[in-house]
Amino acid sequence: MQDADPALRFTVGHLARDQAVQFPCLCRVRTLHRRDLVALVGRGERLHLIGLRRELWCARCGEPPMVGWIARQPKTDS
Ligand SMILES: [Zn+2]
Repeated sequence: MQDADPALRFTVGHLARDQAVQFPCLCRVRTLHRRDLVALVGRGERLHLIGLRRELWCARCGEPPMVGWIARQPKTDS
């Protein structure tokens, strides 16, 4: 019964501690770190559904985030 796309089972709890998710909306791009996401929606929330959570909707433009992407914390190795 492991036929689902692994990406669809990826939850907040699967993120590494140094990972963050960026959520673009109409007015800006917000970066939420793993600990922020745990506090807002909990570890079990699946990342591909996370944009449906009103906790993450933008307070400025009122739009839900478009699909987010995972970003590692910038490191000084550029
Ligand atoms: Zn916005």
